[in-house]
Parts: sequence; C-alpha cells; structure tokens
Amino acid sequence: MAGSTLIEGGYVATMDPAGAEFPRGWVAIRGGRIVSVGEGAAPSDVRDAFPDRIDATGTLVTPGLVNTHHHLYQWLTRGWAQDSILFDWLVALYPTWSRIDEGTAGAAAAGAMAVLARSGCTTVGDHHYIFPRGSGDIVGAIAHESRALGLRLHATRGSMDLGESQGGLPPDFAVETTDDALVASAEAVTRHHDGSFDSMVRVAIAPCSPFSVTSDLLRESATLARDLHVRLHTHGAETVEEEAFCRERFGMSPTDYLESLGWLGPDVWMAHCVHLSEEDAARFGATGTGVAHCPSSNARLAAGIAPIRSLLNAGAPVGLGVDGAASNEHGRLGSEIRQAALLARLRDGAGAMPVRDALRMATMGGARVLGREREIGSLEAGKLADVVLWELGDVEHAGIADPVAALGLGSLPRVRRMLVQGEDVVVDGRLARADEREIAGRVVAAAERLKSA
Ligand SMILES: [Zn+2]
Repeated sequence: MAGSTLIEGGYVATMDPAGAEFPRGWVAIRGGRIVSVGEGAAPSDVRDAFPDRIDATGTLVTPGLVNTHHHLYQWLTRGWAQDSILFDWLVALYPTWSRIDEGTAGAAAAGAMAVLARSGCTTVGDHHYIFPRGSGDIVGAIAHESRALGLRLHATRGSMDLGESQGGLPPDFAVETTDDALVASAEAVTRHHDGSFDSMVRVAIAPCSPFSVTSDLLRESATLARDLHVRLHTHGAETVEEEAFCRERFGMSPTDYLESLGWLGPDVWMAHCVHLSEEDAARFGATGTGVAHCPSSNARLAAGIAPIRSLLNAGAPVGLGVDGAASNEHGRLGSEIRQAALLARLRDGAGAMPVRDALRMATMGGARVLGREREIGSLEAGKLADVVLWELGDVEHAGIADPVAALGLGSLPRVRRMLVQGEDVVVDGRLARADEREIAGRVVAAAERLKSA
C-alpha cells in the first residue's frame, strides 16, 4: 500500500549531499515519497501522523541501489565461455542470443531482476540490443516483468547493424538494417517510455558498441534520442581489442570516435570505460557523460580495471552495474559495491575508494547516470521512497564496527525489507510479489528452449 509508513530504529545512511548518517534514525514515507528523515527517535507528531511502523532495529537503512548496466536476456546463458576475453566470448554466444524472443527474454528478465531485487536493487538499467526478426515486443516483455516484481526499470532499445561481412564482430544474421533499428527504437520509446517524476519505466536508445554498429547508426541514434528527449547508452572503451579496432578502422581512440559522433554529453552514459586516458576522464567530467562501472564483469573477461578515481575526481557521474549475467554469473548488485572498492584499491592504492564512495556510486551515482538524481538515489524529503533495510544482526555482521563497512566490505547482508515507491518488494530476503521457484522454473524452461531452438 502506498500509505503512510515510518521506518525507525536503524542506522540510516542518507547519501544526501552532506553524507549525513544517523546511528539511530527514521524515515517517514507518504504516498510513495519520502516526507522527512531524522536522527534519534521520531518526534511524537511524526509518530502520530505515521501509525504504520517498520522496525529497522539492527539494520542499515540506505537508498535503493541503482543498476546502470545489464543485459537481462543473458540470464539464460550463464556459465558459457568461462575463460574467454570479450571478443571470443561474444563470438561464442552471438548464435544462441540471436534466437531470443519476447517469451525467452521475459523469463530471463524475471530471473535476473529477482536476483537484483534480493541484492538491494530498486532501479534496473538494462541494455537489450538483439532483436531477431519476428521476436515480438522484447522491451514490452521486460517492462511487464519489472512491473510484476515492483521494480523501477530503465530499459533501452539497443541495436546492431555492423555484421561480419562489413567488418563488424557479430554474424550477419544477428544484425538489423540501420533504418529498421532507428524505426524500432523510435517505436519502443513511443510505446513504453514514461518521463514523469515517479516513472516506473523509461526507455533510452542504445546502439551496442563501436565494433557492432555503423557510424551512421550511432550518429542517427543520437539525433533521434535528442528529438525524443530520451537518454543515450552504449559500450565504450571496454577492451584493448576494441581500442585496436577503432584505431585501425577510424584512426581514433574509442572516446575520440564516440565524441566525433555526438556521443559525449550529459544525456549519455557508457558502460565500462576501462581504457581511458587521464585526458579522456577529464572530458567525461567536463561534458557530464556518465559511466556504468561493471567491476565483476571487467574482471571475469580480463578487460582491465577502469580509472574510476580519475573519473570521480573529474566530476563525471559514475554508477555501478552488474553487466549481463553471461559475464557475471553472480548478478547481485549489492556485491558490486565491494568489488568496486577492492578493484579501485588494486589499481590506485588503499585510499582510492573509501567504502562510502563506493556506496555513493551504487546509489546517487547511479541516479545521476540515469538522469534521475532529483527522484532517487538518496534518502531526502521529496524523493521517491526507494529504501533498503540491510540485516546486520546475522552472524556474518553482528559486532562489526561500522554498518557501512558491513555492507560494502563484508559479505552482502540479507535484505530484511525493500520498498520501491513506498511499497514492499522484498520482505525477509524473499520477493514480496512473486514466487521465486516459479521464476526459476521459467528460467530453466526458457534456457532449454533457447539452446535447442
Ligand atoms: Zn554490457
């Protein structure tokens, strides 16, 4: 019910601009929005006005986590090409992926989003870029599943139009024509995008990557997205092989290439950005171009460690992403906080990523990357009530000196309660609105169907 609720008794980490934390605090919610947040016990007038209580004693209370990059459909192809680098891994998987349709994509999305929800994720960014002929309304199928679970969705209509015969990486049968991709992208926005403040489904336009998309499609997609007032997303500077591809084909680095096509700007976010120079990072900051940092996936594919400290110092919006589950079988967003903290330290030293900076990326950083910084990402009056209560009373965390370190450096705590727009999505670690066993059964059946199609 989107009624009035008072969360009280937990350690509240607001992630507001001042980084306010209340060792014992409260959050008051009405009509799906946060009305007020405070320290100590809630005052008696607040207690009187909010008779429905959630006891947060023994929990860390944070904003809902924001995932900025995924390929939900890949939930059906976990565990494949386990020891490959990106290009070999893609070539191994393209043929199976090119059999996806709205039915299999829906089952995959349900599985992947169930796991995201149980790891504290309230807003799901997805990047879908394979649309075989006759595959139905895949973006619609994903949006149907996010609604069923109660999650906020940032879907994308992605695309590929540079097949192998034209010098691209994907096989020709996996790509669309440039015109078909543009028409279908406009259609997906018209049909599914909701730009309102409390929107549960937004759609961005997302041609896949420099080595699977023509320059024309990148340029035209940017124009289309700006005409339609939606955001732009792609992969950029993920691997040394991509860098070599861009230098050979265009005589430029990936970042210079994407900039030349209108792809640096405050309405753009890019996944990975592993191979950036200091000067590239400064340009991301100066233009407000967002980055979806996917540390587990980058490690799984041995792509490298992104220069996140440089990007943050330059003022670039940086959020976290799990990436597709074919390159991160884990699929849990909460765990990426720890992974981001550890990898930044391996790259740039012990002080490179305090755990609170990593949590900020997972919340406000992700909100900025998706253009939702006014609506989500922190616990502040007026924002949407997307809130997670992390259980710290279990043996894994009981007695730890710092609740934020428990979340960001310890094993991922169980989600005692998770609200999206003030309504229950996870209760005691389980989905509140869907049957996990039923979802697991759908995933098994769809994975079999995809393999044998
Ligand atoms: Zn990706």
